[in-house]
Amino acid sequence: MPQRVLIVGASVGGATAAITLRGMGIETVLLEKELHKPKPCGGAVPPAAFREFDIPTSLIDRKVTICRLVSPSGQEASVPVAGTNPTEHDYVAMVRREVFDGFLRERAQQRGAELIHGQLNGLEVGASGVRATYRSMSDGREQTIHADVVIGADGAYSPTARLLGLPPLPRAIAIQERIALPPEAMREWQDTATIFLGRELSPDLYSWAFPKHDHLAIGIGTGPAHSKQAKQLLENLKQRLAPKLAGGRLLLREAYALPMQPQKYLAFDRAMLVGDAAGLVTHTSGEGIYWAMKSGQLAAQVLSQYLDAPTAANLRNYDRLWWQQYGTMYTFLRGLQKWGYGNERQMEVFTEMCRNPDVQRLTFDSYMHKTMAPAPWAVQMKMTWDILRSQVRNYVRPRTPLREQ
Ligand SMILES: Cc1cc2nc3c(=O)[nH]c(=O)nc-3n(C[C@H](O)[C@H](O)[C@H](O)COP(=O)(O)OP(=O)(O)OC[C@H]3O[C@@H](n4cnc5c(N)ncnc54)[C@H](O)[C@@H]3O)c2cc1C
Repeated sequence: MPQRVLIVGASVGGATAAITLRGMGIETVLLEKELHKPKPCGGAVPPAAFREFDIPTSLIDRKVTICRLVSPSGQEASVPVAGTNPTEHDYVAMVRREVFDGFLRERAQQRGAELIHGQLNGLEVGASGVRATYRSMSDGREQTIHADVVIGADGAYSPTARLLGLPPLPRAIAIQERIALPPEAMREWQDTATIFLGRELSPDLYSWAFPKHDHLAIGIGTGPAHSKQAKQLLENLKQRLAPKLAGGRLLLREAYALPMQPQKYLAFDRAMLVGDAAGLVTHTSGEGIYWAMKSGQLAAQVLSQYLDAPTAANLRNYDRLWWQQYGTMYTFLRGLQKWGYGNERQMEVFTEMCRNPDVQRLTFDSYMHKTMAPAPWAVQMKMTWDILRSQVRNYVRPRTPLREQ
């Protein structure tokens, strides 16, 4: 019998893993419980994703060329989206997940992956293989599937991780509303992604307004300590934006969790985790789409080398390669989140820091192209000096009225 891989979850991470495995001729089954409802998401994707995964840019609703950051006191930093060497391809892509995920899923099927509409509810990993049970969404019956290896690409609540006996990860909550605006009201938002900082909107992350094809998506994210306030935080954002949302029509309210920490290991005997199931969302930005795709691809590449001996020791080459390549970036962004969103004074400093042209270039190089080259020493010294001045201004001699004293 040819070897077979079961992937649980056919969203961005699972579909990319399936496309990669099928590219190497490996028999692949995708199990997905939800084929109709879109994944709740802001849908901001870096251009690197389109380039690296050969995705048509026709899937993009809008190309954002300005990022506007609004501090708790209302200071604004309006930042053009441009890296060190600006090109016409410098932008943040805004997609609707129903369109984007649908494309990847269809590509996986076209390449020969089998897609089953079913919900995983049992998993046994033994010496000779994996046995999964699922409820078929078409007739409600319990079915069984056998595979050599399972890849858990089933999101922040990952049933695969739970059935493997792993602890749940700490999770943030994000709520978003899609609001159709009259064309004249939409004009203000169309090429701009706005990030709002402040305790009333998000005590420890941020809230956003992202323009889509026919609507504005506004939302808030907040960590485990404040998740009970999430609905109120979204109401506060809507109140703040009320004049600009006048005449708007609510299309959809959606909410979901984001993992706030990676699993200790990403691979086990006959099992691997990718994307949110592995906890690979980056801090500060809450970005997870690109990372789910990238981890899905890498997991599949490593797995293809060890299908004959899928032991934890072999499959953990995926862990090693991942952290070798991205470990510094994850550590940096986790530190930046603690530093920049720690309290409202820090949020003011963070906003001022984003006015610094060197910070802007570094941020967009790393976001758009996923490269993190250290800045030259002189630039680093200048950035550090500017940040220190901003810290002093906001703590010792506050320049702007702060809500938090
Ligand atoms: C409100 C919100 C806004 C966000 N905004 C952004 C953004 O702008 N940019 C960005 O990069 N990231 C954003 N993220 C994060 C991003 O959505 C995730 O990181 C990304 O979707 C992870 O992809 P994934 O494939 O790992 O998991 P998911 O996209 O969560 O997919 C998991 C899949 O597994 C399926 N599944 C779950 N359980 C089972 C089961 N038992 N059986 C079968 N299938 C199952 C689910 O139906 C789902 O399709 C946001 C998240 C939220 C909640």
